[in-house]
Amino acid sequence: MRIDLHTHSHVSDGTDAPAVVMAHAREAGLDAVALTDHDTADGVAEARAAASELGLEFVPGLEFSTRHGGQSVHLLMYGGDPGEPALAAELARVRDGRDDRTPRMLARLAELGMPLDAAEVEALAADAMSVGRPHIADAMVARGYVADRSEAFAEWLGDDKPGYVDRYATPLPDALALVRGAGGVAVVAHPWSRTGRRVLPPAELRRLVAEHGLDGFECDHLDHPPANRRQLHGLAAELGVLATGSSDHHGAGKHAAYRLGACTTAPEQYRRLRELIDERA
Ligand code: AMP
Ligand code: FE
Ligand code: FE
Ligand code: ZN
Repeated sequence: MRIDLHTHSHVSDGTDAPAVVMAHAREAGLDAVALTDHDTADGVAEARAAASELGLEFVPGLEFSTRHGGQSVHLLMYGGDPGEPALAAELARVRDGRDDRTPRMLARLAELGMPLDAAEVEALAADAMSVGRPHIADAMVARGYVADRSEAFAEWLGDDKPGYVDRYATPLPDALALVRGAGGVAVVAHPWSRTGRRVLPPAELRRLVAEHGLDGFECDHLDHPPANRRQLHGLAAELGVLATGSSDHHGAGKHAAYRLGACTTAPEQYRRLRELIDERA
């Protein structure tokens, strides 16, 4: 059984409709797949219906933008009720922070000699509930400023690049409380990706499990070198929490290596996840 628990559609910064992501998952030989758009579950109904038609097992999810130790941390929520009022209100606040940032980033890019109209970004983000840097990158590509999203991030939009502008994200402990309060299962996405081990060292992951109800972490992810994957698996086993693996597929919006099924979750971990989702429903 092949299981991929982290994918994006054009409801956030992926490039395919939710139903198309599911069709591609089937073509990629997956048996179970989650849709985890940034800060919204709006694509879940379409994905669930498509998965059912295709005979794919489906896990509803989202990827919550949080902040911890001054750094961005992505928290995956599986199951639960994304419409639970406190959670829904906070996700709306995060999406508003995305919308507020876009004109500020466009002003910055104009200063850098790359003017763009808000309407150009809006057109490219027409299907998105959560607008982000990838949509601005697409507008830069359309104008010929850069060749692709990767170049836009590497030169201008990345966290330490001149076009970067900060946005609101929920403090991680608050996000954990909201996810658990809505009956969701909370798994940190790619905990040791871009910022390495500094923000979430093993002691901090241990504390988040013990004190804040963290249910697991994504161990197998392309952003983690093999030694880090092994260490994360060891820690998850020691703590008795979920160890997942996923592609973080964004359609054509991310490097081709992030193809569906590029990393997968072990069947026994998937069964435990489903049990937790059912227990909390
Ligand atoms: P934002 O949500 O606006 O803060 O933008 C962050 C998003 O940009 C992440 O969710 C990634 O999907 C995407 N991203 C980050 N780095 C790259 C890259 N090098 N190429 C393509 N997409 C990227
Ligand atoms: Fe993304
Ligand atoms: Fe992420
Ligand atoms: Zn993601």
